[in-house]
Amino acid sequence: MTRQEFLRRTAALGLGAPFLGSLLSSCAEDGIFNPEFTTNFSGRVLIIGAGSAGLHAGFALRQFGIDFQILEASNRFGGRVKKTDDFADFPIDLGAEWIHTDPSVMSRLSGDGSTADSDVETIRYRPQSYFLWDGEELRKRDILRHFYAEYKFKSTTWYDYLEQYIVPQVRDRITYESPITAVDYSGDGVVVTTLAGETYEADRVILTVPLTQLKQSAIQFTPALPTGKVSALDQVEMPDGLKIFVQFREQFYPDMTIDGTLPEYLTEEDGDKAIYNAAFGKDTSDHVLALFCVGAHASEYVEQGSDDAIFEYFMAELDEMYDGAASENYMSHVVQNWTAEAYIGGSYAHYQDYSAQPTLGEPVDGKVYFAGEAYSQSDQSTVHGAGLSAYEAVEAILS
Ligand SMILES: Cc1cc2nc3c(=O)[nH]c(=O)nc-3n(C[C@H](O)[C@H](O)[C@H](O)COP(=O)(O)OP(=O)(O)OC[C@H]3O[C@@H](n4cnc5c(N)ncnc54)[C@H](O)[C@@H]3O)c2cc1C
Repeated sequence: MTRQEFLRRTAALGLGAPFLGSLLSSCAEDGIFNPEFTTNFSGRVLIIGAGSAGLHAGFALRQFGIDFQILEASNRFGGRVKKTDDFADFPIDLGAEWIHTDPSVMSRLSGDGSTADSDVETIRYRPQSYFLWDGEELRKRDILRHFYAEYKFKSTTWYDYLEQYIVPQVRDRITYESPITAVDYSGDGVVVTTLAGETYEADRVILTVPLTQLKQSAIQFTPALPTGKVSALDQVEMPDGLKIFVQFREQFYPDMTIDGTLPEYLTEEDGDKAIYNAAFGKDTSDHVLALFCVGAHASEYVEQGSDDAIFEYFMAELDEMYDGAASENYMSHVVQNWTAEAYIGGSYAHYQDYSAQPTLGEPVDGKVYFAGEAYSQSDQSTVHGAGLSAYEAVEAILS
């Protein structure tokens, strides 16, 4: 079990939550945002990817007046942070949704003097009603409300946090629709090439692409990446992941439906699955139920093929659980299949051998740096962990 999984499981049991804040890397406090931190670096940096890691890397470089450019494959920023404002009368996080630590992390990430954590209204996310589904019967288990609590945004999203606090500092430096296919670090600096054949030169590059892209060799390196790093890549997977949101006329479901039995659910290694009331604690009268799943649970849906087939599969499941109430109350839905999302291709890092992580994150030849959720040693698989890992990469470059 990885450390992140350990934290998630213990948080679910109410054991880990008090420790999560103290496990945060102190980078944002003691590292590059420390007023005493100085640098002699004055080169140019290319950042590949405009997700949480790429945006925070640019944000930090901006504070030091370093010349940088962000090259993003898709036509939007955010990566696995994505929202829709059109689905319900509150914004929906199609990717990252929970704040898996103390919300004060937003101020720590957005720099000295930021008031992000007091400006952004968050809620203590503590579902009150629970059902367990054992495959045949739903059983009420509200006692579980005493064992799990986290934070969520009240009327905004992770996307809004990035858009309001980070993107204004980097917006003019993002070049969209520029998938990188090659990184050549054989010379004094680095030359990267896009799918369209354009080249960009810099002194350093920070790669923040999801692991899938490295594992699938979507980017060719010259010289090839060191064998230790290639073996480390074999020790980590990025399993399937998806979310579905369904709007209903009535709420016929509890705050949380757990598909499985206890205690097996808490110790299983096949990934996560939660069917939850996405409107919980939000300022809304809409009824929105959501499915979040990663790993083997997600593969079950992804294997259905199209978004329509995935949705039908989920509705059949809900109708079986709730005796046809899903079809009777259905209004609209949205499927976000992260496995099928171009340039993402899955959920988040899952290490078979956790000792591979430091090697995976090591810079190569003092020129090629890596950042993103997979490289965060204390906060892997999270938005804030991706941001903190970017600060570590920037700190390493500036040091
Ligand atoms: C279903 C799901 C639910 C989640 N829930 C939560 C949650 O509740 N809370 C939480 O904290 N975290 C959650 N996460 C995890 C969180 O979303 C990620 O850890 C984080 O957003 C990753 O940020 P990143 O910058 O490392 O990568 P990404 O966000 O994936 O950004 C990488 C960027 O690189 C771009 N790119 C890829 N290839 C190339 C290329 N060749 N050239 C140029 N650009 C390229 C991509 O388009 C993308 O924009 C969830 C993830 C999923 C999938």
